[in-house]
Amino acid sequence: MEKENTLITTPVDSLKGIGPKNLIKFQQKGIRTLEDLFYFLPIRYEDKRFIKKICDAREGEKAIFVGEVVASRSLFFKHARKKAYEAIVRDETGVISIKWFQWNKEYLKKVAKKGNILFLSGQVTKFRDKLQIIHPEIILLDSPDEVDAFTAIVPVYSEIEGIKQGSVRKLIKQLFDDYGRHVKSIIPDEIEKIYNLTRLYDALFKIHFPEEMMPGNAGRHPMVDRLILEEYALFQMGLHIKRQETKKERGIRFEAGGPYYTKLMDNLPFQLTSSQVKVIEEIKRDMEKVEPMHRLLQGDVGCGKTVCAVIASCIAIDNGWQVAFMAPTEILAEQHYLTIHRTFEGLGIPVVLLRGNMGKERDEIINRIKGGEYPVVVGTHALIQEEVVFKNLGFVIIDEQHRFGVIQRKLLRDKGSITPHVLVMTATPIPRTLSMVVYGDLDVSIINEMPPGRQKIETHVFLEKDREKAYRMIDKEIKMGHQAYVVYPLIEESEKVDLLNARERATFLQESVFPMYRIGLLHGRMKAEEKEIVMSGFKNREIDILVCTTVIEVGIDVPNATIIVIENAERFGLSQLHQLRGRVGRGAYPSGCILVASLRKTDTAAKRLKVMEKEVDGFVIAEEDLKIRGPGDLFGVRQSGIPDFRVGDIVRDGDIMTLARKIAGKIVSCISDKESEAIKDILKNRWKENLNLFDIA
Ligand code: ADP
Ligand code: MG
Repeated sequence: MEKENTLITTPVDSLKGIGPKNLIKFQQKGIRTLEDLFYFLPIRYEDKRFIKKICDAREGEKAIFVGEVVASRSLFFKHARKKAYEAIVRDETGVISIKWFQWNKEYLKKVAKKGNILFLSGQVTKFRDKLQIIHPEIILLDSPDEVDAFTAIVPVYSEIEGIKQGSVRKLIKQLFDDYGRHVKSIIPDEIEKIYNLTRLYDALFKIHFPEEMMPGNAGRHPMVDRLILEEYALFQMGLHIKRQETKKERGIRFEAGGPYYTKLMDNLPFQLTSSQVKVIEEIKRDMEKVEPMHRLLQGDVGCGKTVCAVIASCIAIDNGWQVAFMAPTEILAEQHYLTIHRTFEGLGIPVVLLRGNMGKERDEIINRIKGGEYPVVVGTHALIQEEVVFKNLGFVIIDEQHRFGVIQRKLLRDKGSITPHVLVMTATPIPRTLSMVVYGDLDVSIINEMPPGRQKIETHVFLEKDREKAYRMIDKEIKMGHQAYVVYPLIEESEKVDLLNARERATFLQESVFPMYRIGLLHGRMKAEEKEIVMSGFKNREIDILVCTTVIEVGIDVPNATIIVIENAERFGLSQLHQLRGRVGRGAYPSGCILVASLRKTDTAAKRLKVMEKEVDGFVIAEEDLKIRGPGDLFGVRQSGIPDFRVGDIVRDGDIMTLARKIAGKIVSCISDKESEAIKDILKNRWKENLNLFDIA
């Protein structure tokens, strides 16, 4: 096969004009290969099409002149104690002074020589009534005729230390001359035509050598969209290929409608919402196919995802297969266990909770799982550790996927020789454009309504000075027989400090504010058993106020808790606040959420928090969050597997992702295995650091 990807693999110093010394400077700028150099795009453009006569020079204008050096000399400004160098340039209409306050001797000697013809541009200023240009940009011409070559729109590149703009431009020109013919789109010609796309080479060429100024486009060339499409399409092709490969795996065809399934459906304590019915149908249809299901179930906190998963579990169990249910934390696993256990007890289905630290008992449970004694196993990451082997794992449910790496997901799937059906559930409402990136390899089901009777959670932003008022509200709820959360943030690595904070605050609240109430403390550094003791204390109403860190963020379900006070709310993302808020309003009682912010009312962060007062829809909040904070902060770039795109910005260029996805799907549906291997190579090369997304072996 012809080496088509030469640009990706050829180091940039293969280009004439880049030697060992320069190479380092380019590398520091992230330009390692010829392809990187093609994608080193201008940050703006300067219009140099209009050469002026010197007599038309006006103070304060940016202008371009062509003239001859008639004299040059050193200057010394006594007052300013400053040295300078001056050259006088003349055209047929007048003279202008050009000055340097810093200079390179060699450079000046070359440029400011009497008789030189200069193409110069810069800001015209006035000094002692005479017009001048300080530190002009200069191109040395062989003759005044040569000027035509430079009267163009000139791209300006981000500065590479010690390399002049002119040299960068020359190198780019050289690059196009020597290697332009190697530029090749991953999008085949036919598809380029169908979608009326500019050819990749033409787009790159126009960006580096523009013909028109692009007013009002913030220096961004419209052709940049074509480059974004290119990289998005490549990325989406990776996802499509991965998905195709999953579909090729051998799965299990289940028959729905067995006895457990029917019994559970007939005895549900509530009527399913129409969203839930639809989602269950989608899952059922997947499970009836031999290709392994690979589905994401998305829906706001409390919309009733778990019950859908439980119903689907019955299908697997009816068919004699095991179900694994994974949660991101021990607390959540425990809670899921309780819910699932409660439901399955009535059906006579044994459920086991596998925890990390159960001592000897754990080995025994693992043995029984292997023997197939437990149809349902609930746990955390522990479930995917090497020693856990299932007899016949047929269905895997992963709650809160973004906390698991994709690799873990795959590991779990690999546990059986037959690929189990996988359902990933998330309450993190991800905007559509982003979910195309993070979950692009999954089919998506959405629950977009709440079970009837849910109350809006009254949300208010309080400033620190109003904290007393928040305490009074807590007091009122507890007097009515309810319970409260008080949440403190954890900040990245400084966990210890903040931990102290939560602990100190718990002591303070107990001693100085609520001596009459029972206060519990819950944080991530506690041992699992300690956490469980506190959680069950809170569930059993032995604790009135739970002081905690964000360990309660997802899924904790205590319907009697009716108020949540979140301290330092300005430090949280809106989506995270929405998750935290979802801890209350889970029962029949009206509930409240107080966001205490250490800010002034006028701060933008305070305005941001105001979104929470009005908005109840997690998707809208997530969009807002994405706009304000960018995708990285939404839930940690590394975890979510968002690759660093070279040109595209997922927030700004979301629309392009939609098109890219469509195009990628078309391409992948008709490529050969060999071609798809080649694409995988390109992907691996391009996103080395984010390989977790491409564990396409
Ligand atoms: P999620 O996992 O999506 O956050 P859950 O499945 O935990 O939500 O459901 C939240 C609560 O709502 C649970 O107590 C559950 O029993 C209840 N629930 C689920 N579906 C319905 C429904 N259709 N009608 C009434 N209550 C429901
Ligand atoms: Mg849940």
